[in-house]
Amino acid sequence: MKIAFIGLGNMGGPMAKNLLKAGHEVLAVDLNAKAVAELVAAGAEAGDLASACRCPVVVTMLQAGHQVAGIYLGDNGLLAKLEAGTLVIDSSTIDAATAKKVHQAAAEKGIDFVDAPVSGGTAGANAGTLTFIVGGSDQAFERAKTVLDAMGANIFHAGLGGAGQVAKICNNMLLSVLMAGTCEALKLGMAHGLDPLVLSNIMKVSSGGNWVLEKYNPVPGVMDNAPASNGYQGGFMSQLMSKDLELAMGAAGEVAAPVPMGSLARSLYQMHNKKGNGAKDFSSLLALFEE
Ligand code: NAD
Repeated sequence: MKIAFIGLGNMGGPMAKNLLKAGHEVLAVDLNAKAVAELVAAGAEAGDLASACRCPVVVTMLQAGHQVAGIYLGDNGLLAKLEAGTLVIDSSTIDAATAKKVHQAAAEKGIDFVDAPVSGGTAGANAGTLTFIVGGSDQAFERAKTVLDAMGANIFHAGLGGAGQVAKICNNMLLSVLMAGTCEALKLGMAHGLDPLVLSNIMKVSSGGNWVLEKYNPVPGVMDNAPASNGYQGGFMSQLMSKDLELAMGAAGEVAAPVPMGSLARSLYQMHNKKGNGAKDFSSLLALFEE
């Protein structure tokens, strides 16, 4: 199957490589020529939005809703140019309202569209073990699953159009709270002279155990493959966590849901990013507890 993959960043790059490994042909599209060259070296063909229109499957992995709307909607958008029957998968984490607009426009053109944001980080993208949280019709979900299986270990059908984004935002709001709490606890122990590795090993198997301690320790040197041990580079940028928390606040406002923990985490990430840390991995929040 020929798949146009648009957005070959920290997540999209390794995801597209897993499509190649599974035997798909990949058309690599990104504004960043270096990202395209890396995919071409792995066996993909370099492409652009015009050549993407001739592919039966299109996947996007962009940062935010305005980029997704810019690519798909309007007279010059992809949906105006793609053949009816094309399968389109957007794995970016964006607001559910934009996702619903793209669903509507795709349905009018007879295109099967799913919102399919992911969880699992860059490690999951590299290993092909991502969790995909999918919103869309049963038919679109079944078609998308055959593509997503090459990049993920868990593929969930959350509900109709936009449901994937709502579930993903709930998850990331919880993750931000877990990261902030884990940084706080580790820093308290370290201030009392505890070794962060020993403390992490204790909490990991105790009642404070969580995904951050299991897979994403924020203290440099505790976990070799975590972004913290790589200068906080190459993971999930703090500014993207802030973006997700803004989406969560918007979603909470729509239904008047109280989200006190999420709002506090949002403020912590805003403070952290204002200090120039937006491009660092989100586990760099640890620095906020050093001051
Ligand atoms: P990224 O910034 O590394 O990658 C985005 C890529 O899109 C860049 O390479 C950029 O050049 C490209 N791009 C932007 N506009 C484009 C356009 N018009 N045409 C072609 N290419 C374009 O971001 P990322 O970390 O890969 O995150 C992507 C999405 O996945 C975000 O919505 C993020 O919230 C979500 N996400 C990220 C992680 C993570 O750990 N990084 C985990 C889960 C979900």
